[in-house]
Amino acid sequence: MRFLITGGAGFIGSHLAEELLRANHKGIVLDDLSTGRYENIEHLLKNKNFEFVEGTILNATLVDKLVEQVDAIFHLAAAVGVDLIVKKPLESLTTNIKGSEIVLDTALRYHKKILITSTSEIYGKNINGPLKENDDRILGSPLKTRWSYSTAKAVDEMLAYIYWKEKKLPSVIVRLFNIVGPRQTGAYGMVVPRFIEQALRNEPITVYGTGKQSRCFLYVKDVVGALIKLIEEPKAVGEVFNIGSQEEVTIEALASQIIKITKSRSRVEYIPYEKAYEEGFEDMQRRVPDITKIHKMIGFKSNFSLSQIIEDIVRHLKSSKI
Ligand code: UDP
Repeated sequence: MRFLITGGAGFIGSHLAEELLRANHKGIVLDDLSTGRYENIEHLLKNKNFEFVEGTILNATLVDKLVEQVDAIFHLAAAVGVDLIVKKPLESLTTNIKGSEIVLDTALRYHKKILITSTSEIYGKNINGPLKENDDRILGSPLKTRWSYSTAKAVDEMLAYIYWKEKKLPSVIVRLFNIVGPRQTGAYGMVVPRFIEQALRNEPITVYGTGKQSRCFLYVKDVVGALIKLIEEPKAVGEVFNIGSQEEVTIEALASQIIKITKSRSRVEYIPYEKAYEEGFEDMQRRVPDITKIHKMIGFKSNFSLSQIIEDIVRHLKSSKI
């Protein structure tokens, strides 16, 4: 099959493109290289089944031209990363709402199946865990920038779902929980690459807040295979799935584990949220996915422990292999 991958030069998108080619599919990547990087996909350019188009999902004419040529779409293009969202709220909102609307509208026009990637931010401050797909969203004020990301992604989900309900556009929604791996950059706030880079440079590890907040980190290689299975599974249409690991770790413990694995001389530095992000910043204290639904649908489970993931990222960084 021939797939369009929006945001395919980004961290997850580039791994997905690689996996699709490995499975003998064809792929067109559309990416504006805002957070994506040319180096992430450069090695794929020699493959005759791969095409890279530099451009934005806000360009409706371009999106139309590409959607027309493919069998199905993976929509990953988005402004992501808490730091980026807080620093560039308007640009982020426009890409995440208007951009997704253009992609979904075009999918509808050509009736092409679409998988959209959403986020665990959807659940907001709901610290009940493990979180199920139909659990409540608990959000702070819309004037707190962080929540604009959650809201934009919820609009994307609603559009995809309603297009399925009302217009029979085959759509699948996947909520990603803290995906990590090689090629992820710490530049937009993501904690794992930031801590690993700090540890390798023996610089202070910047733990925000108390460090008692927890997350579950899933390896990108586990994600891309699942995304392909989901787009190929007819029963997944019209459904939303969590995808994540169930190995819960506090941010403080993550810092210690990274220091140990990298044999770093770094010390931990605690930084208040308002200094790290902005005044009044609210974090999620806990975020653990319930993955029963995706396990039942495609047999998903995570295959890598956190220490294996950290070791792999360190190996990639040291060999500076993309
Ligand atoms: N975090 C941190 N230090 C950093 C970057 C992030 O302590 O240098 C914390 C952040 O406040 C959050 C957790 O690590 O509690 C995960 O942050 P990330 O931005 O990776 O993901 P998300 O908040 O979206 O889960």
